[in-house]
Amino acid sequence: MNILLLGSGGREHAFAWKMVQSPLCDTLFMAPGNAGTAEIATNVAIAVTDFDAIKALVIKENIEMVVVGPEDPLVKGIYDFFLNDENLKNIPVIGPSKIGATLEGSKEFAKEFLVKHNIPTAAYDSFTAETVEKGCDFLATLQPPYVLKADGLAAGKGVLIIQDLEEAKAELRNMLVGQKFGAASAKVVIEEFLDGIELSCFVLTDGKSYKILPTAKDYKRIGEGDTGLNTGGMGAVSPVPYVDAVLMEKIETRIVKPTIDGLQKDGIPYKGFVFIGLINVNNEPLVIEYNVRMGDPETEVVIPRLESDLVELFLAVANEKLDEFELKIDPRSATTVMLVSGGYPEDFEKGKVISGLEKVENSIVFHAGTKLDNGNVVTNGGRVMAITSYGDSFQEALAQSYKNVAEISWENVYFRKDIGFDLV
Ligand code: AMP
Repeated sequence: MNILLLGSGGREHAFAWKMVQSPLCDTLFMAPGNAGTAEIATNVAIAVTDFDAIKALVIKENIEMVVVGPEDPLVKGIYDFFLNDENLKNIPVIGPSKIGATLEGSKEFAKEFLVKHNIPTAAYDSFTAETVEKGCDFLATLQPPYVLKADGLAAGKGVLIIQDLEEAKAELRNMLVGQKFGAASAKVVIEEFLDGIELSCFVLTDGKSYKILPTAKDYKRIGEGDTGLNTGGMGAVSPVPYVDAVLMEKIETRIVKPTIDGLQKDGIPYKGFVFIGLINVNNEPLVIEYNVRMGDPETEVVIPRLESDLVELFLAVANEKLDEFELKIDPRSATTVMLVSGGYPEDFEKGKVISGLEKVENSIVFHAGTKLDNGNVVTNGGRVMAITSYGDSFQEALAQSYKNVAEISWENVYFRKDIGFDLV
C-alpha cells in the first residue's frame, strides 16, 4: 500500500525507518519530511496542516493510509476532515478525532476527563480573565511551588512553576489578562504541585483495546545534570530501569485502562497514540498530562525496540483488531543522543554543512532539523539529528551512541554528554 506520514522530525524519521521495512509498504510519502526521510521515502513539500493539499496528494498518489506524527494537524481535526469527505472517508488516519485530540489541545478538557473517569491527577481549578482575582485567591490556598498551565497549545512552553506567591499571581494576571501565550492562555489551569519522579507511558489504541509500548525517559533540559532551559528533548533511554512490574501494573489498572474505557464511554473516536505524562509520588502514579501523539525523542528509542511490523500494527488499529495483535519487543536497551545547533533553544544559526555521517557504524541516524542543499546535508532547525543505538544495557547502548556522535560535526554542534546520568 501507499502510505502518507505527516511530519518532519526525528519522530517521523523513526516511524518512516520502521514502516519502509514492512512488506506491506509500497511507497511511503512524507509531508514535508527532512533530508533523512528523503533517502527512504518520497518527500512532498506540503505543510502538515494544509488539509486541502494533503487531500489532493492522497487522491493523486492512491494513498491508502495516513499516519500523523505531530499534534497540530490532530488538534486541527485531520481525522474528522477525512471522515467527513466523501472521497477520503475510507482512508484510515492513525491519530485521534478532533475531540480526542482536545486531551492535548486543552488542559482543562484533560483535567475534566481525568476527574470524570476517576483517574489519579493533581487537584486543580481553572480560571479566565473574568475570574482572575478568584484565581489569585485560589493560589493563596495552595502550598508553593505554584503550577500554572496555559489551557491551549503553547509550543511546550505553557507551563510555569513558580516558588513565590506574589510572582505566581503576577504571572497568572500576565497569562489571563496580558495574553502572555495569546489565545492559549485565555484560560489557565492552576494545579497542585506533585513532588516525585516523572515518567512517560506510551499507549497505542484502536478506541477499544490498547497496547502499552516500551517505557522511555527523555532529558528535557539543555544543560548537563538537567539544568538550564527546557528543550524539545536532548536524548532518551528505553526501557526505564526503575519502572518495575508492580509500578507498571498500577499504571495500567489505574490509568491506562480507565483512559481507554473513558474514551469509549464518552464516545470519543480514538485510533492512535496516547502519551501519558506521569509523576510517581511515593509509588503512586498520577497523570500530569496527555499528549495525543508519540514523544520526540522517545519515539527514536521506542520504535527501534519494536520487532513487530509497524504497518501491520497500524492496520490493526485502523481495523479495530488490536486485541488480536501480538506485540513483539526487542529485549535490548535503546538510547538516543540528540545533536543540536549551538545556541538552541534560544537563537541559533541554520544552514551549517554536516560532516561525518558516512563514518557512523552500528547506530541509526534519525534526522530532525536537516535539509538537502546543493547535495549537502545542512542544519535546518534547533534539534538536528538523533543518534540511536542498541545495547545489552543502556550504558552499552549509550557508549555506542556517543562513539558515533564523535564522528559527526558541524560548526557549533552541541549535545549533552550525560544522557542516562540519573539511572545508575
Ligand atoms: P505538562 O506540559 O503538563 O507536562 O507540564 C510540563 C512540565 O511541568 C512537566 O513535564 C513537569 O515537569 C512539570 N509539571 C506539570 N504539572 C506538574 C505538577 N502538577 N506538579 C509538578 N510538576 C508539574
